[in-house]
Amino acid sequence: MTTSHAQILDGKALAARMRQDIGREAALLTQTHGRKPGLAVILVGADPASQVYVAAKQKGCDSAGIASFSTELASDTSQQHLLGLISELNQNPKVDGILVQLPLPDHIDSETIIEAIDPGKDVDGFHPYNLGRLAARQPLLRSCTPYGCMKLIAETGIDLHGKECVIVGASNIVGRPMGLELLLAGATITITHKFTRNLQAHVERADIVVAAAGKQGLIQGEWIKPGAIVIDVGIHRLDNGTLTGDVDFDAASQRASWITPVPGGVGPMTITMLLANTIQAFKTHVGETDMGNTEVGNTDV
Ligand code: NAD
Repeated sequence: MTTSHAQILDGKALAARMRQDIGREAALLTQTHGRKPGLAVILVGADPASQVYVAAKQKGCDSAGIASFSTELASDTSQQHLLGLISELNQNPKVDGILVQLPLPDHIDSETIIEAIDPGKDVDGFHPYNLGRLAARQPLLRSCTPYGCMKLIAETGIDLHGKECVIVGASNIVGRPMGLELLLAGATITITHKFTRNLQAHVERADIVVAAAGKQGLIQGEWIKPGAIVIDVGIHRLDNGTLTGDVDFDAASQRASWITPVPGGVGPMTITMLLANTIQAFKTHVGETDMGNTEVGNTDV
């Protein structure tokens, strides 16, 4: 076995650099157009993890000079009421982005809510229109977590063409769009999920592994191909309060060339890409850009 030590893909540092750029751009846009880019955040219920995420998103907006409009609704809010609020925000010219914090209470259908958001304000990139645009090689607003993972992978300087990429997890918000992002970048992708047989065999041949199954320590260090890049999206809070991911970090670090830590890897990038998407939506709304995204990738794959 090759014993080396992976370089850390520092999401915290990259996010800080990107947020400075986003802040500068937001200030310039505010000066030019006479209003700040605006993000509306809706929280239904009092799920403690969701409250932490929403607070972090508001803080991110504040420090980047983005106006945040937050609405906290009781957990028994009806779906109809929530749809009414989304409809108002869709019409509100001060609001460029709308984010409904997931998960929603069981009596509200998440798909219906996501589809009610104007795709041009869908800064989470969850609307089927935006997912479809990514699938059709014409991305507009991109799902924040996969988009952030792509920024981290870019930091390694790797040429993704023809690389074997194995994504562990196939959710609409992480695994699937992650596969589409890597495909657009010219990689060969395998998306694995809970029905996949012999996950180890898939991971063992991967040049890049993206772990997003939500299963603590699922990816064993010995599975990692020497020199591979490992992106750990998973977040798990241990009883002692520390956070950990889907990958056995210590063992994987002995084989990988680059690895993201948890915390401090993918997490800070997700909110950063939310802010970047809000700026992109603003620019479209004020007519500074059309809905095109300049970082399109390999449309000839
Ligand atoms: P999800 O539960 O919606 O999806 C999990 C996926 O993993 C499913 O497709 C499932 O089939 C697959 N899976 C489950 N067990 C598996 C196994 N043994 N082998 C292969 N695949 C398996 O979860 P999600 O919303 O996509 O989130 C995944 C993880 O990422 C969670 O830990 C979540 O907290 C974390 N997350 C982190 C960020 C971030 O910003 N860092 C953002 C979103 C989600």
